[in-house]
Amino acid sequence: MAIATTVAPQTSTTAPALEAEGVRKSFGAVEVLKGVSVAAGSGDVIAMIGSSGSGKSTFLRCLNLLERPSAGRILLGGEELALQPGGDGSLGPRDPAQLQRFRSRIAMVFQQFNLWAHMTALQNVMEAPVQVLGLGKAEARDRALRYLERVGVAHRKDAYPAHLSGGEQQRVAIARALAMEPDVMLFDEPTSALDPELVGEVLRVMRSLAEEGRTMIVVTHEMSFARDVSNRVLFLHQGVLEEDGAPDDLLRHPRSERLRTFLASTL
Ligand code: ADP
Ligand code: MG
Repeated sequence: MAIATTVAPQTSTTAPALEAEGVRKSFGAVEVLKGVSVAAGSGDVIAMIGSSGSGKSTFLRCLNLLERPSAGRILLGGEELALQPGGDGSLGPRDPAQLQRFRSRIAMVFQQFNLWAHMTALQNVMEAPVQVLGLGKAEARDRALRYLERVGVAHRKDAYPAHLSGGEQQRVAIARALAMEPDVMLFDEPTSALDPELVGEVLRVMRSLAEEGRTMIVVTHEMSFARDVSNRVLFLHQGVLEEDGAPDDLLRHPRSERLRTFLASTL
């Protein structure tokens, strides 16, 4: 008969995939993030909601230092990103190589796709694996084709972005993020720039990524995604995390008047 034994938890498996602690950011005299803390566990799908201007994009951008926070800590898989204050008071990387490693493990998908216009879909997806990960061309090409297939646009591999629909462009951008095989994926309103009839094809891909257990933080106005796909919802208001909870609870029983007002505005 097997006897249950207690195994000491290992830090590497229990550390959150991505952790932000007390992130602050000021633009001039205006503080747009007032100490935001989020810990995303492995496999968490976190929807971040909030009014325009509440600091959602700035927060996501601080996580990979596209924006330099004024204060705070960033940890990936338990490893802390070493930061040091620069001349303007914001925090920059102490070790550029560590930052590059973090960035290669935190993929970001933007509202405006941000594909390189002079490259085909395939070239867009191959670029970072070759340039950043040092993969050979043949291996990068196989990998790129696999992820283009994964998001359903492999048949458009030789098209340039200008000849792709918005939905196809965004799926190529998702394939480009996936091709880095990142630990965490950040999405900043990935469907907001799309014509309404193209939103569904992108949301379906995102839902399938969530179902395969990928760790995702998704800034979104799609309440159906927040409700049906995420396992946690964060409500940001004027740079403060006002609510943080399970979708059902938070969306059906908002505690704050601000969240009630926000939810009413999205109906
Ligand atoms: P959200 O994504 O929630 O709409 P943002 O993070 O884009 O909000 O912006 C939060 C606030 O920070 C806004 O008031 C915006 O005008 C301001 N802001 C964002 N980026 C900059 C910048 N580079 N310089 C000055 N102010 C900025
Ligand atoms: Mg934004």
